Formats: sequence, structure tokens, C-alpha cells
Amino acid sequence: MDVAAHALWTFVIVYLLSQWKPTAGYFNTKKKIATAVIAGFGIDLLFAPQFFYMLTHFPARSDFYQIAPHFPQWMFTWYYINHNYFFIALIAVILYFTYREYTAPATFALALHITMDIFTHKNVFELKPFWPLQQVPFPGLVSWGQPTFFKWNWIILLFSFALVFFHMQYQKRKLLGKQIKAKRKKDK
Ligand SMILES: [Zn+2]
Repeated sequence: MDVAAHALWTFVIVYLLSQWKPTAGYFNTKKKIATAVIAGFGIDLLFAPQFFYMLTHFPARSDFYQIAPHFPQWMFTWYYINHNYFFIALIAVILYFTYREYTAPATFALALHITMDIFTHKNVFELKPFWPLQQVPFPGLVSWGQPTFFKWNWIILLFSFALVFFHMQYQKRKLLGKQIKAKRKKDK
């Protein structure tokens, strides 16, 4: 999925989890939610070496799928390394011993990202999330760049985001009302 959709989907889902009692504790601060969103799209920034290689080795606006077979092996290897559940487990362990309260939001967002990519990456970008144990990639359902999918993904995403936004406003107003009531009681 595109980076912006990854970020926004992560926000929508993590916000819902922050409102659900069993998971609320993992996402109960703005910092934890921000951590999840940054992890949710940040993993795709690890494409930077590939991106730089493409810029320097291929003419601008060349068709991605046409040039992909000419990529050197390391570009795929690096992709399999970072879009990988083992890699996420490693990050989870590191966070657990450094910034423990962010382990859950970051790990959840990274796993969500990989899981979304499994279904929305096709052809050369099909994932091997259990690499190096996995040699044959999971076949994706549809490419995230396929026009119909792209359009409907964003329509549903923006609609979901609008619902979340209104819910946030509603919660804010409810809290403000409570505060005003408490203040009036105190003033009496
Ligand atoms: Zn990705």
C-alpha cells in the first residue's frame, strides 16, 4: 500500500483499539498512538537504498515493473529482510529492553503493515514474511496500485477517518462538558 494509506489506516485502527477496553492500555497516550503511526509507515522508508539505486541507474519515469527484473539481488534481499515477521520480533525485543511502553504499539503497527502488504503486493513485490525459512512468496490478492483497488481503498479509508475524527470531537466535547460541570459544582 502507499505510504500515506499505511499511515492513515494505522491511525484509524489504532484509534479504535485505544477505545476498546482490552487493548486501550497499549494505546492510551498520544505518544503511543504516534509511535504506532510512525512505525506503520516508517518501515517503508527502508526502501531508501532501493529508491536511490533506481534514481541513479534508471531513467526517470521508467516503468517499475519493467525495470524490476534488472534489479540486483541485494535489493530483493533487503526487502525480504525488513518486510519480515522475524525482523519485527527483533525490533520488539530491542524496544522491550529500551522503551518498553512503546513495544506494543510499534510491534502491532509493524505486523499490521506486513500483513496488509501480503495481500496487496503482486509480482516481484510478493512478500516472503518468514524469509529465510520461506523461499516461495505468498501470492498477493491485488496490487495496491491497481486503479480500482487504489480508489476504493482511499474512499473507505477517508470515510473511516471521518468517523474517527467525529468521534474524537465528540469525546472532546463530552470531556469539556464534564469539566465545566465539575467547575460549577466547585464554585457553588
Ligand atoms: Zn511495505
